[in-house]
Amino acid sequence: MNIKGVLFDFDGTLTEPGALDFPAIKEELGCPADETILEYLETQTVARRAELMKILEQKEEEAAEAARPNEGAEKCVLALKERGVLLGILTRNSLVSVKKSLEKFCGVSINDFAAIITRDTSQPKPHPDGVLQAATEMGLPPSHLLVVGDYRFDIIAGKEAGAGTVLLATKGRSVMEQGDPEPDYTVKHLEEILDIL
Ligand SMILES: [Mg+2]
Repeated sequence: MNIKGVLFDFDGTLTEPGALDFPAIKEELGCPADETILEYLETQTVARRAELMKILEQKEEEAAEAARPNEGAEKCVLALKERGVLLGILTRNSLVSVKKSLEKFCGVSINDFAAIITRDTSQPKPHPDGVLQAATEMGLPPSHLLVVGDYRFDIIAGKEAGAGTVLLATKGRSVMEQGDPEPDYTVKHLEEILDIL
């Protein structure tokens, strides 16, 4: 694999997992536990969706306030930058939250990323649209990108776009489901990515 860029998922990948309490947010939104939030919102009426989106954004803002860099995230980003690897972020979160969370990082800023793709500007993962958009913005073919994330949607989106994929598996249980594509690599720590490149 000739990797020239790394596209990171944000929540739970570059930031420490747990800041966004998905079960609690789902309960507040009336979203069934086995459904995903953005897709659930799509099934609501326009008025209701706007109402629920406000609640979601409020929760995301609180989470961004509490966000902390994930273990090894700053080191990993800085080392990749030093090697001349292009960096990007692809998230189902909003740009406002990403900006706010990134302020908590030491030595890493929004300017280090050649592309930041959020739900404000692309179809959310698992759709590959965001990966393709990031590749275009980074000036690389998707096959030269490594998509790194902690959830099955990250792997599905990366695979569909033709990129390399890395599952960050910090939790004990697997997040992948039957029928999902296999990630190219599985790591327990972000800094292991440096050995893949
Ligand atoms: Mg994540």
